[in-house]
Amino acid sequence: MKLKVLVTAGDGIGPEVTNEAVAVLKDVMELGGHTLELDFKRIGGIAITTDGTPLPQETLDAALASDAVLLGAVGGNEFNKMSPDKRPEAGLLAIRAALGGFANLRPCLTFKELSANSPLRPEIIDGADIMFVRELLGGAYFGMPREYNKETGVGFNTMIYTRAEVERVAHVAFKIAQARRKKLCSVDKANVLEVSQLWRAVVIEVAQQYPDVELEHQYVDAMAMHLMNRPRDFDVVLTENLFGDILSDESGVITGSLGMLPSATVGGKVNLYEPIHGSAPDIAGKGLANPMGAMMTVALLLRHTAKLEKEAAAIETAVRKLLADGYRTADLVRGKDHGYTMLSTTEVGAKVRETVKALLS
Ligand code: NAD
Repeated sequence: MKLKVLVTAGDGIGPEVTNEAVAVLKDVMELGGHTLELDFKRIGGIAITTDGTPLPQETLDAALASDAVLLGAVGGNEFNKMSPDKRPEAGLLAIRAALGGFANLRPCLTFKELSANSPLRPEIIDGADIMFVRELLGGAYFGMPREYNKETGVGFNTMIYTRAEVERVAHVAFKIAQARRKKLCSVDKANVLEVSQLWRAVVIEVAQQYPDVELEHQYVDAMAMHLMNRPRDFDVVLTENLFGDILSDESGVITGSLGMLPSATVGGKVNLYEPIHGSAPDIAGKGLANPMGAMMTVALLLRHTAKLEKEAAAIETAVRKLLADGYRTADLVRGKDHGYTMLSTTEVGAKVRETVKALLS
């Protein structure tokens, strides 16, 4: 098969983790005799510095001409004083909007070997397996009007959804639930927000087409607690944009680190793949970044865009093997006397690739 991927590594640890992700993608494609065409373009802070905009037209054109986009992360402390529409993160929102993917799939995986790193007890988290389906193009992140007026001292955003926006993401979530444990929890704040009342009403309507899927509703505040108390009770969690952003980061606690979590955005012209973490300026350039989330993001790309399931599974197995063999990155250990062998970003990449090659050869 032929696969054309645009790589936009971005800022901070973005390029570090993306290097390892791209290396494993190249290996997998070569081993399978497939053709991989890679293009590299700027996004985020690096693009502001070089091109004066967080999403240069050249990057957008290349993205739209690709089969998939692999993104690292954007953002940096030096841009924090800029207004939201000028910052690196504006480039991320703009590419998401232009590619049109509205369903952001965020698997919250648990790894037995990482139980010790979670502040939650193993008997609470072991075996938890949640798929967040986060609506990505609506809600407060995109709603207009929006404003921060320094003179009047007023700031506001608009959390807005249309029936069609809720319907399309709900269908994606119900279909995923049908292929999993057939449970869907829709998260909203329908006791306070009218936009959530629409959300809940539409989800209930869509549910009628999926009678085999058990539907429950939770308010987002209660859900934040349930996720920590009883994560194993949830299968597919459907949320709007802002709530999904917060809850899926919170679920990093279940897995053990944000650095372990991949994501795929589907439903638009071109699928967008990115680990869920940010640019982590606190550890950038130190070789400390965990590339496993970015490498498992490649697994999602192989699964959803290239339809190469065996290859996708090989990457996930290789990550599990690395953990089982006692290797860790700094984000995956607590204290000093943990007894694990510590690896840098590139060392993790090399070990995962070695196992992937052995599995696929
Ligand atoms: P962050 O995800 O960058 O970091 C949060 C914490 O997790 C930090 O302590 C960091 O060191 C750690 N961490 C994150 N990824 C890691 C990894 N792969 N390996 C090891 N440790 C990891 O979130 P933040 O600190 O709130 O934001 C930093 C910047 O990133 C900000 O500019 C923010 O706007 C941006 N951001 C970008 C994205 C994105 O590009 N998708 C997402 C979230 C935040």
